Amino acid sequence: AKRAGRSQYRYFDEGLNAVARERLERESELRHGIEQGQLRLHFQPKVDATTRRVVGVEALVRWQHPRLGLVMPGDFIALAEETGLIQPLTDWVLEAACEALAHWPPEVAVSVNIAAPSFAGADLGERLDALVARHGLQPGRLVLEVTESMLMSDTTAGIARLHELREHGYLLSLDDFGTGYSSLSHVKRFPLHELKIDRAFVRDLYSDGKDRALVASIITLARLLDLQVVAEGVETEQQAAILCELGCTVHQGYLYARPLPEPALLALLGAALPP
Ligand code: C2E
Ligand code: CA
Ligand code: CA
Ligand code: CA
Repeated sequence: AKRAGRSQYRYFDEGLNAVARERLERESELRHGIEQGQLRLHFQPKVDATTRRVVGVEALVRWQHPRLGLVMPGDFIALAEETGLIQPLTDWVLEAACEALAHWPPEVAVSVNIAAPSFAGADLGERLDALVARHGLQPGRLVLEVTESMLMSDTTAGIARLHELREHGYLLSLDDFGTGYSSLSHVKRFPLHELKIDRAFVRDLYSDGKDRALVASIITLARLLDLQVVAEGVETEQQAAILCELGCTVHQGYLYARPLPEPALLALLGAALPP
């Protein structure tokens, strides 16, 4: 029994080493991938459900891995955040989004997800100003998506940063709304222009009366605070119809379009999506 115990312990220890080693490998692979230009942007439309026209676009990063193929952000953003690689990653995303945007119709804005370390980083406003100037863009064409949890860790600093970005002319969106812990009094103090209802509340809208009530109250809140409200993860006509009935007509989701490479996205801009 004693021997079995020892060998089990050794096995466990080697397992830990293997985990740590794999993590290090993944980290250096990701660093290499960023440096070697393996990141890609896909773009998912935000659609006005009443006209079926594209009213905005969210940039979503992917990693074109030489061996694994297209890796989704759920599999590498957390690692990037833990290792500091999120800074060069966010810089790359912002650069690529602005480069694309510079060739798009001027009424289209692009939304970019800003992770906590980038949001808190020094001189974000100035760095964004240099970026948009370099691409000849107005700051109002860039929407910065932030989450409640980022703002709750240091609310005072977070609100100051939001005001700074807003004064520089950027648009601010609160992503995954409803999943964090911000109180209504906080949301009132955030200088936002948009709330995005998390897809967790959209999924069961048809069958779950509580979710419907929650979504209705988020829409009411948005209207009270004079914010645009976007529903995420709209997959069915039933969900779309309920959202419209509740007063939310800007939708993002597979019902309308998946995240697309730029050429496919460009084909959708300007024309109404098929019903
Ligand atoms: P998110 O910001 O909430 O982005 C929306 C996610 O929902 C995207 O997943 C999108 O493909 C997916 N989605 C859109 N419509 C539907 C739908 O109808 N049904 C379902 N089931 N899913 C839908 P994606 O691209 O895998 O991104 C996942 C998350 O990774 C994002 O969630 C965001 O938090 C993060 N992320 C993506 N790109 C970036 C980036 O450039 N920077 C940072 N910091 N985070 C990013
Ligand atoms: Ca987002
Ligand atoms: Ca979201
Ligand atoms: Ca999310």
